[in-house]
Amino acid sequence: MKYSEIMVRYGELSTKGKNRRSFIMRLSSNVRQALVDFPKLKIHADRDRMHLVLNGEDSDLIIPKLQMVFGIQNFSPSVRVEKDIEQIKACAQEMVSEIYTGNESFKVTAKRSDHTFEQTSDELNVTLGDAVIDHFPDIKVQMKKPDINLRVEIRSNGAFLSYKTIPGAAGLPVGTSGKGMLMLSGGIDSPVAGFLAMKRGVEIEAVHFASPPYTSEQALQKAKDLTAKLAPYVGQIQFIEVPFTEVQEEIKNRVPQGYWMTITRRMMLRLTDSIRQLRRGLVILNGESLGQVASQTLQSMVAINEVTNTPIIRPVATMDKLEIIDIAQKIDTFDLSIQPFEDCCTIFAPPQPKTKPHLDKVQQYEERLDITGLIERALANIKVEKIVPASAQEQQDEFAELL
Ligand code: ATP
Ligand code: MG
Repeated sequence: MKYSEIMVRYGELSTKGKNRRSFIMRLSSNVRQALVDFPKLKIHADRDRMHLVLNGEDSDLIIPKLQMVFGIQNFSPSVRVEKDIEQIKACAQEMVSEIYTGNESFKVTAKRSDHTFEQTSDELNVTLGDAVIDHFPDIKVQMKKPDINLRVEIRSNGAFLSYKTIPGAAGLPVGTSGKGMLMLSGGIDSPVAGFLAMKRGVEIEAVHFASPPYTSEQALQKAKDLTAKLAPYVGQIQFIEVPFTEVQEEIKNRVPQGYWMTITRRMMLRLTDSIRQLRRGLVILNGESLGQVASQTLQSMVAINEVTNTPIIRPVATMDKLEIIDIAQKIDTFDLSIQPFEDCCTIFAPPQPKTKPHLDKVQQYEERLDITGLIERALANIKVEKIVPASAQEQQDEFAELL
């Protein structure tokens, strides 16, 4: 069926009172960003619904992209016909014939927003119900949970018919909750943490620590590829590569092994917090999960967290590994995450990290380091790169080859 528009129903944001306007504006711009490859598409957002007027764009290509935009409860591709009862009937019959296989029950749910239209909603329900039964005499009418719910809406600019309700990604529009810095390694947990934060409206920037030549170009690329997997939810993500080699070498040379891990993490956190400040983020996000490894005992968290008052959100903190893997598979990051490229933590991992680090010792060992200088030099050499969804990247590459 050739659809003329997609009607989008908002998610949770409809309950947000006076924030509603800014939520809807943000959602519109996120939808536009996600559908930037469809130039003829027009977006009209009002208080209750958003209408994507296709103007000939292919709904089959648009739907999978729309399903990744947070803040949408569900949406219905619809066909527009003139407000002429015969045309509406014919369209209703055609729609049902497309899905009816002989067993499904149905009902019509009509809504007359344009009160000048000749039939009321109830009258339309009857007229169109009869029209369908004329065509399919054996079809069962069922008011409660019918298999086919044919929705008809009479608006000022035409009659709109739809029968499909496609679930959206729910959550809140990305950006409505402000910006956070996601500490993104190449592992399984941090991409999942980023996904969950975006789902609650947080715009993320990815901060990745790389220690060349100890860490490889592939490990860095893997972190970028993971970022590209998260990009379709927003259109693009800034990726910030932090040079971490000098910090790690200094720690290794001056600190006893048992404290490498704690102090490394504290340095990462200090740097992430400085970057957050520079780039006007509000919070830090990471993929720590309680009890997974030495750095993730509560005692370790306390010792690491001591370097900042900035709120740190840990979306996967209380999840089991299998629950995290489940999400990683759904968002298609799992296969990338398990590729075996060593990251900076694995390479400098001490054989026996302290699971209960003492804060006084931590502070004492840190006195051996030029913390301010290390941070300044790392910050002076960060690299920021815009990462776009993989499909868009392929298009860009193909385009570049043509030139
Ligand atoms: P992940 O699967 O996310 O790598 P993990 O279970 O391997 O987590 P750790 O390696 O202890 O756990 O890392 C805990 C968190 O610290 C990560 O989730 C991530 O947020 C952050 N982190 C670790 N290494 C890096 C890195 N190289 N760059 C940025 N953040 C990092
Ligand atoms: Mg890791």
